[in-house]
This record gives sequence, structure tokens and C-alpha cells, in this order.
Amino acid sequence: MVKWYYQFAAGFGRLNVFGGSYAAGENDLSGRLEGKLALITAAGQGIGRAAALAMAREGARVIASDVNATLLKALSATPGIETRTLDVLDDAAVKRTLDELPPLSVLFNCAGFVHNGSILECSPKDWEFSFNLNVRAMYMTIQCALPKMLDAYAKTGAAASIVNMASVAGSIKGLPNRFVYGASKAAVIGLTKAVAADFVARGIRCNAIAPGTVDTPSLHERINALPDPVEARKAFIARQPMGRIAKPEEIAPIVVFLASDESAFATGNVYSVDGGMTI
Ligand code: NAD
Repeated sequence: MVKWYYQFAAGFGRLNVFGGSYAAGENDLSGRLEGKLALITAAGQGIGRAAALAMAREGARVIASDVNATLLKALSATPGIETRTLDVLDDAAVKRTLDELPPLSVLFNCAGFVHNGSILECSPKDWEFSFNLNVRAMYMTIQCALPKMLDAYAKTGAAASIVNMASVAGSIKGLPNRFVYGASKAAVIGLTKAVAADFVARGIRCNAIAPGTVDTPSLHERINALPDPVEARKAFIARQPMGRIAKPEEIAPIVVFLASDESAFATGNVYSVDGGMTI
């Protein structure tokens, strides 16, 4: 009887609810983004890269873009991923990219920069750069992507999801030496809610994610730029009550969830993934 049960369960386990099949032991959730076209900015490393790989694993056709063509090379052989050099600070290039692509089902605005310092260390140039990369670039990608998204929804009922990269630093929590970073990431949340409110009845969802500290190449740069990197790393770890820093692969699943139809009722919200920083 027990043996029969296990044989039945093992056979059943190879069939998924969408009619596809897979070997026992593989990810039971694969196919959650089947049929979706996703554009990701800053996909060359860190969270953007992890999200590109996770979305492709879930069946999306992913356009992984980044200003750094060399970083993108490591992704170019991955099934489901096409790479594209894109500087999100270049309005003409953003417009050209969105003009060339079919309507997106998912836009993940991940590009951003962490300036280190209080208001006293923030020059007008620092302010301008951070707001341009962290906020204005999203305004431009969304403005260029939306008309085709709206048109696709009106004609076929295909809804679209925009996911914006915010941070715990900003309107959720004030952190030391994150003056312009926090100000710009707070603006991302305002931008996200505004877009969500304007297009909620026209098939567009817009949400933001707010990670705590994540182990990415730029975090290493930030740590190594400080006078005592060993102490700095300890301080970054201590910010999370879980006593550790996240891996990019721990942030990617929330992006996949917001990109997928599983989150169809969620819009205008901010999803923190922060190791308990905001308990
Ligand atoms: P990262 O900072 O290590 O890498 C950033 C990527 O952005 C690089 O591949 C770089 O080439 C690309 N990039 C830089 N300028 C660009 C431009 N003009 N156009 C297109 N691409 C450009 O990656 P990360 O640490 O995962 O950060 C990604 C996002 O996540 C940022 O918005 C960051 O603010 C946010 N974030 C990071 C953390 C963290 O602790 N790492 C926490 C919260 C939020």
C-alpha cells in the first residue's frame, strides 16, 4: 500500500498543473512567467542579474540590459535571456529600445546608485546624478514603455507589471550617510504609487521593492571604500536583525512574484525584503 502510494505520488509529481512535465526534484514552480516579455535595467550584476536568471527560469523571455556590455556577456548564453546594452541615463537610447521592442509584460527598473554621505557631503552634482539614475531614469523607461502596454491591454486584455527598485533606506527608514540615496529612493516610492493610481483600471500594476543590505559587487565597493572595511562589513551585517546580509537570489523571488499573475491584485505597494530591518 505504502509502495503504491509513493509510485502514484512520484508519477503525479512529474505533471504540473499547466500540463507541462518535468523531472521529479526540479523546481515545482517553473512556468510562472511563461509567455511574458520582461525588460530589466541594470541586469549585468547584483539583484538585476539574479532577477534576470530567475525570470528566465520561470519561462519569461528576458531582455537583460545594462550600461556595461562586458557584464552582460556572462548572461548571453542563458536560455530565455537576450542581452542589450542600455544606458538608462540616455533618453534617446531608452526611447529607441522601447520603440524596437514589442509591448512589455514586465518592466523591472533596477538601475540605481548608492551615494555615501550626509547632506553636508552631497554636492549638487551628486544630487543630480543620484536623482537622474535612481528616479528620472524610471520616469523615462515607464513613459516610453506605457503606451504599448496600454494598447496591448486595450486590444488583448494582456496586463503588465512594473517593478521599481526602491530601498529600505528612504521613506521606510532613515539611515546614516544615505542622504541623497534615501531621498531618491523615497521618490521612487512616490513615483510608483502615482503610476499605480493613474493606470490601475487600465491593466497596469506598479509596485516597488525595498531590500535591506544585499551582497552585490557595489556593496563590496562601498565597504572597501571605507577606512576600515572589516568593521564596515560588520556594521552592514548588524543593520539586519537576522545578523546577515541577503544574497541577490533572496531578492529575485519577490520580483518574480510581482512580475507574475500571482500578484494580480497587488499594485501601488512597497515590498520590503530586509532581514528584519523594519520590524
Ligand atoms: P550593483 O550596484 O552591484 O550593480 C549595478 C548595475 O547597474 C551594474 O551592472 C551597472 O553596470 C549598472 N548600471 C549603472 N549605471 C547604469 C546606467 N546608467 N544604465 C544602466 N545600467 C547601469 O547592483 P545592486 O547592488 O544589486 O543594486 C541594484 C539596485 O538595487 C540599485 O537600484 C540599488 O540602489 C538597489 N538596492 C541595492 C541594495 C544593496 O544592498 N545592494 C539594497 C537596496 C536596494
